[in-house]
Amino acid sequence: MNTPTIRTGEAPVLHNFIGGRFVPPRSANYIDDINPATEEIIAAIPDSDSQDIDDAVAAARSAFPSWSRTPAAERSRLLLKLADLIEQNLEELARLESQDNGKTISLARRLDIPRAVLNFRFFATGILHQSSEAHPTDGTALNYTLRQPLGVAGLISPWNLPLYLLSWKIAPAIATGNTCVAKPSELTPLTANRLAELSIEAGIPPGVINIVHGYGNKAGRALTSHPDVPLISFTGGTVTGAAVATNASPRFKKISLELGGKNPNLIFADADLDDAVATSIRSSFWNQGEICLCGSRIFVERGAYDAFLERFVAATRKLKIGDPLDESTDVGALISADHLKKVTGYIDLAKQEGGTVVAGGQRVDRRGYFVEPTIITGLGTNCRVLQEEIFGPVVTVTPFDDEEEAVAFANSTRYGLASTVWTRDLQRAHRVAAAIDSGTVWINCWLLRDLRVPFGGMRESGVGREGGFASLAFFTESKNVCVKL
Ligand code: NDP
Repeated sequence: MNTPTIRTGEAPVLHNFIGGRFVPPRSANYIDDINPATEEIIAAIPDSDSQDIDDAVAAARSAFPSWSRTPAAERSRLLLKLADLIEQNLEELARLESQDNGKTISLARRLDIPRAVLNFRFFATGILHQSSEAHPTDGTALNYTLRQPLGVAGLISPWNLPLYLLSWKIAPAIATGNTCVAKPSELTPLTANRLAELSIEAGIPPGVINIVHGYGNKAGRALTSHPDVPLISFTGGTVTGAAVATNASPRFKKISLELGGKNPNLIFADADLDDAVATSIRSSFWNQGEICLCGSRIFVERGAYDAFLERFVAATRKLKIGDPLDESTDVGALISADHLKKVTGYIDLAKQEGGTVVAGGQRVDRRGYFVEPTIITGLGTNCRVLQEEIFGPVVTVTPFDDEEEAVAFANSTRYGLASTVWTRDLQRAHRVAAAIDSGTVWINCWLLRDLRVPFGGMRESGVGREGGFASLAFFTESKNVCVKL
């Protein structure tokens, strides 16, 4: 089904948010923002270029001296006000997120927007508890460490959890006294735009938060290579992460890269199968599988393989696909026509590689970019379908014979973002957790997040850690002061 997008002529025109004002892009060029569930154009957003980035960086630079000297208690108060405003507008923001991304409104209400509120509250209060070290040197000197903001933070976020991930960057960046220029994905600009409006209402001074819309390879590239942006926090795909690092490195910027994943979900035969099946449904298909932490490679100990597969397939077939704005929908639309093509291409590839589709496998016959939740069996760990990030509602299920093989399968990709282990054997849980190469290991749970813990990827899933004090450290520079006594 190939249908043209719908142009109603009523779509609102968004602007960049620079220096506290909404301004059109210098080029006067715009990009269509499409609702992936209806293929309607729902907004026009700036197709920004390096001139707009220059303007935004200049605004952020001029706001920095005053903002960085603002007492932490006052910065905290303003961020808490912004959190309250997001919470008060939760329903509207959830609807915008659903329309922009294709995600179900129930997930946006439950996960995306509440997490954005938490992000602001967490860092607003975190800065009130910061302290720094002192190192007395044998009675001859006293060293103490200052932690200072760097200046203008460049923040680049993807489309899958738009406000959730954007706020995960903006909150620690500005809480610690930096100002920022953020470039959200051009596929999901709506909640970033609303956040800009709410930041004015919260009283955040002009220039502290700047938002520039547009393409990654134009606006994003200009931001990552800008000489007056000393710090880049990027979340997105591994290939893009490499381009960002290439651009930013010659200027010795501080960089954090949160990249892709191909996460293993290991289910041992002694696991609580009820819990493992129910949670694996979420870790496979929540947000249409478009969460970097989804467990797309499921490995099941041979003794439990048939029982797990039967129940997992039955539960998958019960998922309701359809209108994301309907509260009862479980699976919404994929982000774009291009992504739909990519995901269905991998289902075709799975068949060519010798796999069997035991559930789903088809594009849904309706307007919008919908794909059935899909389960594939019969593929080896070296197949491309088990090696490459699909980022859709497609999982493989593969049997393993023992713990050693389970760990080898888990570690058999170039990624290392997150993993899940299901077992009732405590010793084994700890052994396997220590042996898996991933930044996060969940035992008998998934997506249980404590914002204080370090978060990030190993191998090609990223460089650096964010979360809790790791974020506060990343967004500040430590400086040692040595005083002779
Ligand atoms: P992309 O890498 O395509 O894009 C991420 C962001 O980078 C977008 O804003 C994009 O803009 C921008 N961008 C693209 N090219 C450049 C460039 N040359 N310079 C600077 N910025 C650029 O990722 P997706 O948006 O497709 O998101 C999906 C990916 O994100 C998956 O791989 C997923 O695993 C990963 N991800 C990782 C997470 C983690 O915490 N590790 C969390 C969530 C997602 P534009 O939209 O215009 O291309």
